[in-house]
Amino acid sequence: MMVLQEIINNYRATGELSHEEIVFLLGLEKPDEVGGLLALANEVREKHLGPDVHLRGIIEFSNHCVRRCVYCGLCYGNRELKRYRMHPHEILDTAAGAVEMGFRTIVLQSGEDFHYTNDMIAYLVAAVKKMGAAVTLSLGDRPQAAYTSWKAAGADRYLLKFETSDTLLYRQLHPESTLARRLKNLTYLRDLGYQLGSGNMVGLPGQTITSLANDILLMKELSLDMAGIGPFLPHPATPLGKARAGTMEMTLKVLAVTRLLLPRTHLPATTALGSVQEDGRRAGLLAGANVLMLNLTPVKYRALYDIYPAKAEATSKPQQLKEEAEKLVDELGRRVSSGYGHAVKIEYQ
Ligand code: SAH
Repeated sequence: MMVLQEIINNYRATGELSHEEIVFLLGLEKPDEVGGLLALANEVREKHLGPDVHLRGIIEFSNHCVRRCVYCGLCYGNRELKRYRMHPHEILDTAAGAVEMGFRTIVLQSGEDFHYTNDMIAYLVAAVKKMGAAVTLSLGDRPQAAYTSWKAAGADRYLLKFETSDTLLYRQLHPESTLARRLKNLTYLRDLGYQLGSGNMVGLPGQTITSLANDILLMKELSLDMAGIGPFLPHPATPLGKARAGTMEMTLKVLAVTRLLLPRTHLPATTALGSVQEDGRRAGLLAGANVLMLNLTPVKYRALYDIYPAKAEATSKPQQLKEEAEKLVDELGRRVSSGYGHAVKIEYQ
């Protein structure tokens, strides 16, 4: 029988966890044991990354999407959703406002919307870089030529979650795609020199603890620079509308174990975590997370970027979100980083 203390001692000695040990940790339920796991992740975060919390500003510039991911409210089949596209000038105005407010990273995210040509995205990347911010793109599966041209335009990072490491489940959730294709794109992005972000959803229908342990090991295998881990939240306009949501507890355990195995990877306390429970992001920051992504999408569009219901930060203005985040970081005795928050191994080279 496995004993928690032995696993922890062994981890402290080697920095490693086997698949079996990860499954054991994710299965913990006693509040004191779970608390111990989260506290250990917090200790590892402090040791490797210190008190810095990086704030990223995300602009969700289009909710048009050609894909039919069965969990996502933006999926092509959802005719109830009013669609929007931000004009490039509006995107750049929003980015400029954010840079002025002190944001050092702008994340540009959208559905898979081919209305914006490769050149348009490259133009946006170059313009935001010129403002002095780092640029993260999160635009889904795109042709390799697109990834290449955006890197050449100056993009620093790409966020493309693998969502689940279970091949069958991936296929069920993404009828027109495969996990292999997603992983191929991730490898390609890495080879192009992007700092690589990926991650999963926790509590998907049909997902098991074994499968979550595989997700964590895949994040390690990809040696991600950033990993987004958030609970699955059922959207009523999707085929999974009646499924059960992922829990904050399981999401925190996955986050914590990921921190143990990826001590220097940037781990956001995700918006989805803040949506499943009000204090979700605070809890995330205390369970290994060191990043907050704040929603800078103009308020008139924000509710329309409806990937899941009851999204946190639905109406607050950027300035207010930033102040709230700073207050939270301060209350935790941490500090808002003044740097770009690039991949740690790159920054320290
Ligand atoms: N089109 C881009 C961006 C997708 S939205 C791409 O494919 O990468 C960003 C993330 O939102 C997704 O990676 C997914 O993990 C998350 N997401 C989408 N629908 C969700 C849901 N119903 N519950 C929780 N997270 C969801």
